[in-house]
Amino acid sequence: MSLDRSAALAALAAAAGPDHVLSAGDRSAWEADWRRRWHGRSLAVVRPGSTAEVAAVVRACAAHGLSLVPQGGNTGLVGGGVPDDSGTQVLLSLQRLNRVRGLDAANLAITVEAGCVLQAVQEAAAAQGLMFPLSLAAEGSCTIGGNLATNAGGTQVLRYGNARELCLGLEVVTADGEVWDGLSGLRKDNTGYDLRDLFIGSEGTLGIITAATMVLVPQPAAITTALAACASVRDSVALLELARARLGAGLTGFEMMGRFALDLVARHFPQLPAPLPQAAWTVLLEQSDSEGEAQARHRFEALLGDALERGLIQDAVVAESLQQSQGLWHVRESIPLAQSQEGLNIKHDIALPVSAVPDFVAQTDAALAAAIPGVRLVNFGHLGDGNLHYNVQAPAGGDAKRFLAEREHEVNTIVYDAVQRLGGSISAEHGVGQLKREEIAARKSPVALALMRRVKQALDPHNRLNPNRVLAA
Ligand code: FAD
Ligand code: ZN
Repeated sequence: MSLDRSAALAALAAAAGPDHVLSAGDRSAWEADWRRRWHGRSLAVVRPGSTAEVAAVVRACAAHGLSLVPQGGNTGLVGGGVPDDSGTQVLLSLQRLNRVRGLDAANLAITVEAGCVLQAVQEAAAAQGLMFPLSLAAEGSCTIGGNLATNAGGTQVLRYGNARELCLGLEVVTADGEVWDGLSGLRKDNTGYDLRDLFIGSEGTLGIITAATMVLVPQPAAITTALAACASVRDSVALLELARARLGAGLTGFEMMGRFALDLVARHFPQLPAPLPQAAWTVLLEQSDSEGEAQARHRFEALLGDALERGLIQDAVVAESLQQSQGLWHVRESIPLAQSQEGLNIKHDIALPVSAVPDFVAQTDAALAAAIPGVRLVNFGHLGDGNLHYNVQAPAGGDAKRFLAEREHEVNTIVYDAVQRLGGSISAEHGVGQLKREEIAARKSPVALALMRRVKQALDPHNRLNPNRVLAA
């Protein structure tokens, strides 16, 4: 179908209102990704204000043979939420769908529209004395729709699960422009295939999420945070085992940060605290407790004392106040920003059985150092979930852009071969988008890939929803 641009724009304006169809002027805030790695070009950015308008936009696109790229906060890291460079795709921004539809305290559930910013959902829960436990460094701008479409993880997965595990129900606009009302606060519903779980993690390729019912939890009475210095990854894993045994479900965060990752934070954000002397590995532990502060601190100090005696840690510090606690988290959450200030690097978001992490780091560090003398590793992540952001930076003084262009394939092969050998996954939480599309095609089982294609074909037979993302078109 040849594109009649003005007729298509008129149909989109009729669907979403003329003020909400941007087809001229600077649209780079939507067309380029957060890292500025991909720069697409859209026919228009369309910003509907309701589910009915989203459905009307999808039908208008179908009538004019246009494909759509859904977008929330545009914080995704795999190029899944930005258009290609054809100038024919509609960028569908969900940002105006940002209402809290309801909160059911007795059922511990909140129903929000897809464009609600994650932090706003956390605040809506807190206003009722409850907590929405999804938490990640992009929470000030990422949206619930994007979190669900990427099945986001973050820093609390260890205790509360990822976005999928926090979702009870969805409202979705299908590729045909119909609305599936699957909003439900039910904990149990075995009435056939789980449609909700198909859409979660589908990165905008199967349907457009317009609203969701999410799990809330009671607010903990006390949250305590500590930093511990470890000599090796193996010691960090042993500390995790000990912390699990001692704190049980009270252990809500366990992050590991390599020395170079913290060096970058110190270099680019010198105003941030550095409460422990430099260590090869620094672990941030968080404990949430339904009892009071004093018991929580006591338990934490006993754990750290024991770890010190066993030689698992070299030093530790427990935050004295909520403010200090937030300061420690701030350091951890500044790593992504610090590394982007340092220049582009080759990013990995890998999952491994926790028990395999020490071997992975030892083997892969050595293989990379042999292949690229002087290579620098920004290794940090959610060790409690076996999820590392194992990012590879050019040797000091090297040109970051050139390094990425020339060495990405070689580096990925070293890293992903090791991940595969040790039973891991090449995407723990960021998704596939366009960044890992070819990698999953080469590495995932042919049976799994064929089933994925059949699901895509069944739900989006004309390939209108985010084509050529996740699976090659
Ligand atoms: P977008 O970037 O807008 O879109 C992401 C994908 O979802 C795209 O494929 C898009 O097409 C699709 N999509 C968006 N909205 C919808 C919708 N309503 N319906 C259907 N499809 C949709 N991720 C983690 O998992 N854990 C982390 O700890 C983490 N930390 C981060 C830290 C920083 C500083 C940054 C910049 C990113 C981080 N991310 C992390 C990645 C990112 O924040 C998450 O993937 C987030 O969930 C994306 O939400 P978004 O609204 O910005 O989605
Ligand atoms: Zn992460």
